[in-house]
Amino acid sequence: MIPKKEKKAKAFQLVKGMKDILPEEQRYWQHVRKLIARVAESHGFERIDLPIVEFSDLFVRGIGKATDIVEKEMYVFEDQGGDKLALRPEGTAGVVRSYIEHGMQNRPQPVKLYYFGPMFRHDKPQAGRYRQFYQFGFEILGESDAVVDAQTIMVAYKVYQSLNLPVNIQINSIGCPKCRPEYENELKDYLKKRKNDLSEISKDRLSKNPMRILDSKEKEDLPIITDAPQQIDFLCEDCRNHFIQVLEYLDELEIPYVLNPLIIRGLDYYSRTTFEIWIGDEEEGRQSALGGGGRYDGLFELLGGQPTPAIGFASGVERLINQIKENDCRVDDQEQPKIFLAQLGPEARKKALRLFENLSEEGIRVSESFSKSGLKQQLELANKFGVHFTLIIGQKEIVDNTVMIRDMENGIQEVVDFDKVVSEVKKRLEKSVVKE
Ligand code: AMP
Repeated sequence: MIPKKEKKAKAFQLVKGMKDILPEEQRYWQHVRKLIARVAESHGFERIDLPIVEFSDLFVRGIGKATDIVEKEMYVFEDQGGDKLALRPEGTAGVVRSYIEHGMQNRPQPVKLYYFGPMFRHDKPQAGRYRQFYQFGFEILGESDAVVDAQTIMVAYKVYQSLNLPVNIQINSIGCPKCRPEYENELKDYLKKRKNDLSEISKDRLSKNPMRILDSKEKEDLPIITDAPQQIDFLCEDCRNHFIQVLEYLDELEIPYVLNPLIIRGLDYYSRTTFEIWIGDEEEGRQSALGGGGRYDGLFELLGGQPTPAIGFASGVERLINQIKENDCRVDDQEQPKIFLAQLGPEARKKALRLFENLSEEGIRVSESFSKSGLKQQLELANKFGVHFTLIIGQKEIVDNTVMIRDMENGIQEVVDFDKVVSEVKKRLEKSVVKE
């Protein structure tokens, strides 16, 4: 009886909004990781890695109910134990949870931390927007002085500046719980009078969170927003002085900034300084945000901690990498192997395996094709990889306990003792680096 043909399983595909980072992309990621670590560490920031999963309430309380992130975008689930959990949509709430939980207020203040990792938002996927995306962020916790606002903006700016990306800082102050209510009332009155002309989303926000209307990208809202009263005219004396100081520090650091009353950042926990990093041509009006942040002095109490001043910044890695590509920024090339290891016959293969390990222990990157047996095929591969030398182990080399070294540039071959081959290869590689 002929066996029934089995139905071929349907090939799986990526979940919508997710992305593979393929090997050919890794050099960009590696470059960005190293750059962030270098900038952060040279400015006194220590790395923190936090879990992707937190109690969903951490974000509901920390980010605020009436925000898109919490209302629509958070991945929330109940685990087997009945806990209501969320995949983190951003990094700051977790950092603050950790600061409180580990008593970091007892360390010398301020505590300067940075992170790099995936975030999850059930956003509408489109070019440059994913449902799992990476952010790096800097946080300075435990200090209220305006100088740390400037330092945070400085590290954020430094990341882009060191890549020669033409970015500028869009900055605003959204006041504090003392002076914001008066402004909010004024804004509400103004918006109420124009309610009929507002977009549907903004009409809905009018009662819940009117400040967020300033964030709207809807066409019909834009003229209304442009003429709206500005928080800056309602700042209390402390907030005004704080803001002036931040700007003076930025002048001192020669960081280009633009006062932008619409930078209110959608999250509830911000106070005083808010800012975004923009790239693009201002005159052409085609600027986009690469990242943003602000002061969040009120967040600690919301999350059950002592009142603690803090400021932070988060930026998207995918968007940064797109800019690196678009602007042809110099990126470290992944080091290509300079050695190919060829073998002929089963005994030679065993020995080649050992030699491969000996070389890699010395940090020498080697390419090989142990599953192939013909010398011609292997030399073709070695040529394709563009290696400097091919090491060949055949029957004769097994008997003599030697290895043949072939210089791929001139074809000259030389036989070396098996035990001396690692040091010989090292010597030759050093010479070839000098030549390059
Ligand atoms: P936010 O936390 O919303 O202020 O976002 C900070 C930065 O993270 C943005 O400026 C983007 O660079 C990046 N980002 C936010 N959401 C996404 C997303 N869905 N996909 C890719 N990058 C994102």
